[in-house]
Amino acid sequence: MPILEIICLANSKKHSGRCVAGIRTDGKGWIRPVSIAPEGVLEERHYVIKNIGPVAPLQVVRIPFDKPRPLLHHPEDWLIRPDSWEQSAPELSQEQITLLKQALTEGPELLGNTADRVPYPPIGAPPLDASLALVQPENLRIVVKEGKKPGDRRLRVNFDLAGTAYNLALTDVHWEEVLKEKPFGDYSTADLDYDPEALFLLTISLSEPFQATTGVNHCYKLVAGIFEAPHAWAATAQQTEPLAPPEPPPVIEATKGRAAKRKTQVLEPEPTPEPETQPESASSIRVAVVGAVGRMGREVIRAVHEAPGLELVAAIDTQKEGQDAGELAGIGTLNVSIQTDLQFALEWSGAEVLVDFTLPDSVFANILIALEMGVAPVVGTTGLSTEQLEEIDSLARDKGLGVFVAPNFAIGAVLMMEFAAQAAKYMPDVEIIELHHEKKIDSPSGTAILTAQKIAQARATAPTSLPHNPIEKVPGARGATLGEVPIHSVRLQGFVASQEVIFGGLGQTLTLRHDSQDRSSFMPGVVLAAQRVRQLEGLVIGLEKLLF
Ligand code: NAD
Repeated sequence: MPILEIICLANSKKHSGRCVAGIRTDGKGWIRPVSIAPEGVLEERHYVIKNIGPVAPLQVVRIPFDKPRPLLHHPEDWLIRPDSWEQSAPELSQEQITLLKQALTEGPELLGNTADRVPYPPIGAPPLDASLALVQPENLRIVVKEGKKPGDRRLRVNFDLAGTAYNLALTDVHWEEVLKEKPFGDYSTADLDYDPEALFLLTISLSEPFQATTGVNHCYKLVAGIFEAPHAWAATAQQTEPLAPPEPPPVIEATKGRAAKRKTQVLEPEPTPEPETQPESASSIRVAVVGAVGRMGREVIRAVHEAPGLELVAAIDTQKEGQDAGELAGIGTLNVSIQTDLQFALEWSGAEVLVDFTLPDSVFANILIALEMGVAPVVGTTGLSTEQLEEIDSLARDKGLGVFVAPNFAIGAVLMMEFAAQAAKYMPDVEIIELHHEKKIDSPSGTAILTAQKIAQARATAPTSLPHNPIEKVPGARGATLGEVPIHSVRLQGFVASQEVIFGGLGQTLTLRHDSQDRSSFMPGVVLAAQRVRQLEGLVIGLEKLLF
């Protein structure tokens, strides 16, 4: 987990966040710090240097990194840690200016060709050599023009490199600000009040892949940074020795973006589209899932990914570390890899809600960690004791957070419990049979416990049937008893989650039965709870509290 010093050479717009790039001061070449968010987008809390502001070109900064995370089209990507960045020097040293000169691309080729885009490597092909370049342009012009929709503004940069003309989209956030009030037109830097003698450098960065109508995907060359060369630039000798290639590419992850959810941009041949513009909704709730590899966890990954207003930002489990949560869930790459350290993952991802489908022995600790970190838990894991629930409620209230626990997220099961409570007012003699898959390790089920509690509260008169026979030839034959309601637990292959509530009366029985045929039955409830939990205060138990 190294802390590396880099000379920042770009801070550009990417979705609703940023893409930062620079070169390492240890001479090991280009580096692009990325987060674990989709497409590595950086948020303000990542790239803002305390007491200084957003990192800007030519600042030398120290960044805590986790590891290289090279992609086919971005071999220089390194995953950052969630710790803050620091400025190490306000100005470049002579050696650092020399490093910049080594990084210069002379042209006419830029990132492998003279076009405005490069083909995205097909599956099985080697990664691109580089996705970042520094150029000293000639005839630099910045163009502000109308986009496809009236009122839209497009920023382009025209320049020559060793006699070849380039026309690329501009994503540098500083220049967007400089140009935002300017009328449509074609500007030199002198027109924009810069010294006519000033020498400018450009950082070129490849975009995420776009799907072309031809079927060949492309990455566009973007002008991610425009900045004046450092003062001592002219005085520093031109270097011929090239900069080192990017740090070793141990694992190449193909990026398919946000799989099905991501809108694919289909290109027309010309003009180049505006780059990297599919921002997540600003109001998306950032959701982490713990137990992400389990039967329920995988279902939750799918549901969160597909749910409007929710964004999957982290997936945690004790198994399958590093694997992509989307691939494990069978929905393609989501660029959210399984992490094993819950606290680290929550801190890292900026999650607002944690969905827990783990095991009875870990759920309590997970909830405490989430609450300590200001994250609202939605809990499906059963097996929490009354004392634990009380402690959770108290901590949640201290922290001003909501916690939602549902023994059963299926609407049908919730209705069954409501109907059971209604029936218990008139038919107090009742028994519960709950039936689950053979791998369920706790019994009775949380649903059976809650049903029994509701029945006990709703009964107007005491039951007449005996919870235990005077002669129980095999101990336990009459099941366990809660609130004077016998409960029988069945564990067999073939079941997901079923329950029968049988009422007996004079000459009649009434049976309420609910069956979850598969785990998708729980997902509308999980999604609803994830959307609502931040509006709750303290502990709320039962989906009915959100529904009725
Ligand atoms: P599972 O065994 O398939 O999955 C549990 C997952 O949790 C596993 O991948 C395991 O590796 C992971 N895990 C265990 N401890 C962990 C920890 N400390 N940190 C991170 N990950 C950890 O179980 P399942 O069938 O998915 O069920 C999970 C829980 O959900 C059970 O308690 C089950 O009873 C409950 N459940 C609730 C509902 C409901 O509607 N509330 C519905 C179905 C299941």
